[in-house]
Amino acid sequence: MNAPLPVIAQADPGASYRAQKTEIDIAVARALNSGWYILGAEGAAFEREFGAWLGDGMHAVGCANGTDALALILRGMDIGPGSTVVTVSHTAVATVAAIEMVGATPLLLDIDPEHYTMDADELAAVLEDPPPGIPPIRAVILVHIYGQAGDIGPMLAACEKAGVPLIEDCAQCHGATIGGQKLGTLGAAAAFSLYPTKNLGALGDGGVLATPDKALAERIAAIRQYGWRERYVSSLVGVNSRLDEVQAAILRVKLPVLDAGNARRRAIAARYDAALAGTALTPPARRADSEHVFHQYVLRSAARGELMARLKADGVGTGIHYPVPVHEQSAYAGRIAMGPAGCAETSRAAGEVFSLPMYPELTDAQVALICGAIARL
Ligand SMILES: *Cc1c(COP(=O)(O)O)cnc(C)c1O
Repeated sequence: MNAPLPVIAQADPGASYRAQKTEIDIAVARALNSGWYILGAEGAAFEREFGAWLGDGMHAVGCANGTDALALILRGMDIGPGSTVVTVSHTAVATVAAIEMVGATPLLLDIDPEHYTMDADELAAVLEDPPPGIPPIRAVILVHIYGQAGDIGPMLAACEKAGVPLIEDCAQCHGATIGGQKLGTLGAAAAFSLYPTKNLGALGDGGVLATPDKALAERIAAIRQYGWRERYVSSLVGVNSRLDEVQAAILRVKLPVLDAGNARRRAIAARYDAALAGTALTPPARRADSEHVFHQYVLRSAARGELMARLKADGVGTGIHYPVPVHEQSAYAGRIAMGPAGCAETSRAAGEVFSLPMYPELTDAQVALICGAIARL
């Protein structure tokens, strides 16, 4: 009997460290030797560099993680108890957790099953005619899932008409564009996770939010540290959610290679597309006039379990993002408000989606092996 092949991991954050080990070790030593570990020169420089990378006039604020980045934006906008925030059920639970963290009420909409992002028509309908029994809608969080832009044009128009800010959840889309503009620069504010497996990942927890509104950025920067504008004096009600200097120093090494990493992800995705040609599976859709950054390369099949097992036997690891929609998880089921579509497409997708290995450090030999296994599906 042949020994089982070593399985290529679906995600490998350690590979991103090994790829830049010398520079990262130098940056970590610099931060440690500085003697200043929280909200210092590294964090300030990362905020400037990330804001400049996003685009002209963008103000970035570092924080402890992506969930907090969303919650800080809501707090900065004074959205809390007595407010509804609209988002989707097909997301990392963090999006919904952030809404409840600030005391607001989530309203979960369905997805467009081709792109897996919020259904623009359902959003327009609920903004026009909110479901009964929930507080007034005060914000919309659009999740650009898997690295793919949501249908943001009509959503911005519907939000503007309703007088409600659109917040972008960019935890999976660092560097993706639509109409030539980077995601995270189109709404009122955007939240980025810097979790190790994200397209821009720290080697620990981290988050950053961005907004073109300088006053909002300044307010949130105070809220992230007890509401201080002056040391030891809270002028706002705040929290503690800071990005530490060691992580900021690491992120300053990784930010300059983010665009190249995204290009590598797209090249790997093109290889996977070609390998699927003779199979019954369909490559992931790309939204028109947008650039996908393939946080995940997601396939769909009613026979998911069998396909994943065959890939594993061929040495290819897979994952499911996400197996249980938020509205079906026991912490939320039965009490969470949903839009008129009842998240039917979300439930269907959760039973069928699976993700192939995707990270820039995959070698050409590994990609070739994966493509061989895909072609046999
Ligand atoms: C990862 C993720 C988050 C949360 O980020 P953390 O840094 O883990 O708190 C939020 N939204 C989406 C869509 C994510 O993928």
